Amino acid sequence: MFICQGFGATAATEKLGPFSFERRDTGPTDVRIDIRYCGVCHSDLHQARNEWHNTIDPCVPGHEIVGQVAEVGDKVTRFAVGDLVGVGCMVDSCRECASCKQGLEQYCEVGFVGTYNGPDKHSGGMTFGGYSRAVVVDEAFVLKVPKNLDLAAVAPLLCAGITTYSPLRHWKVGPGQRVGIVGLGGLGHMGVKFARAFGAEVVLFTTSASKVDDGLRLGAHKVVLSRDPDAMAKEVGSFDFILDAVAAQHDINEYLGLLKTDGTLVQVGAPEEPLPVAVFSLIMKRRNFAGSLIGGIAETQEMLDFCGEHNITSDIEMIRMDEIETAYARMLRSDVKYRFVIDMETLAS
Ligand code: NAP
Ligand code: ZN
Ligand code: ZN
Repeated sequence: MFICQGFGATAATEKLGPFSFERRDTGPTDVRIDIRYCGVCHSDLHQARNEWHNTIDPCVPGHEIVGQVAEVGDKVTRFAVGDLVGVGCMVDSCRECASCKQGLEQYCEVGFVGTYNGPDKHSGGMTFGGYSRAVVVDEAFVLKVPKNLDLAAVAPLLCAGITTYSPLRHWKVGPGQRVGIVGLGGLGHMGVKFARAFGAEVVLFTTSASKVDDGLRLGAHKVVLSRDPDAMAKEVGSFDFILDAVAAQHDINEYLGLLKTDGTLVQVGAPEEPLPVAVFSLIMKRRNFAGSLIGGIAETQEMLDFCGEHNITSDIEMIRMDEIETAYARMLRSDVKYRFVIDMETLAS
């Protein structure tokens, strides 16, 4: 065991602060990673504040981890000391169920092990995430980072990237389709970039007039202000696919109404409260309302490789570790452009 410095919350009502904890030594199939950067996902905020009612404190968030391999176990085959690597939302799963065997570890029938606030198979306690100096992860859950990309701007790909890439691929978004992305935050801005790279006609829906120009720059063909009823009315019945990445309460029926016959709305945003669906929004045009959770390990590597080939990264704003509460407050005001990333060197030793 070694003592690892981190930054976490000891209770849902407490601010995050310095928190040290024990991590396991590098086992035979483990990779020990010195963390360089960690992205700040809205899920970190939901969980630090127990908004999903499943947080076991203390909580050290962070599941958009990039860093350098510091040590490898003697059975590790895919990584060497010095490699640049990433870790996303999962650090383990049962590896035996039908979902795991299909590479869908995120839907593991026993339950995947979250990078933080997950049941740690080794310690028997809960896992601690990437707002910390180092992490020890089985090599099966470690990703290779393309060398040509800016490392800090890669970090958000490990959650925001794969969470938008996976449903766009699963529902085969591509040329000839009209695709809506709802909410220009961390997930939404990656959704815009991927939908554009896959060849679709992309329309961004935002509540923030200040994000219109950025929406176009990031790849949207058109930006609609979702609080303008006339602008929304013009879009009714015109979409093949919509990806909703909104972190707060909003009227989902308004977006279901924008779908064509047989169109699909996929929810990736995970607000605390249910989103009521008026069944006629679905019935009248045989529409589909679905959800999607991050992506499997193989698909996450595929996404990172795709980003390397197409030079895609996240648009980031670098922060110090002790600025995390300010970053959370800005996220809650939708003032994020478009992912905060923590420089882990600023975690005081
Ligand atoms: P984020 O960076 O805070 O972005 C959320 C965006 O939603 C905001 O920037 C804003 O965009 C829009 N928004 C906020 N409040 C709104 C409101 N009241 N009405 C309409 N739009 C609003 O969050 P994120 O990190 O991208 O995460 C988004 C959600 O996805 C969170 O709930 C997170 O927990 C969830 N998530 C899910 C998965 C998964 O696997 N399914 C993975 C990661 C995260 P505009 O300013 O453009 O309106
Ligand atoms: Zn996340
Ligand atoms: Zn499984």
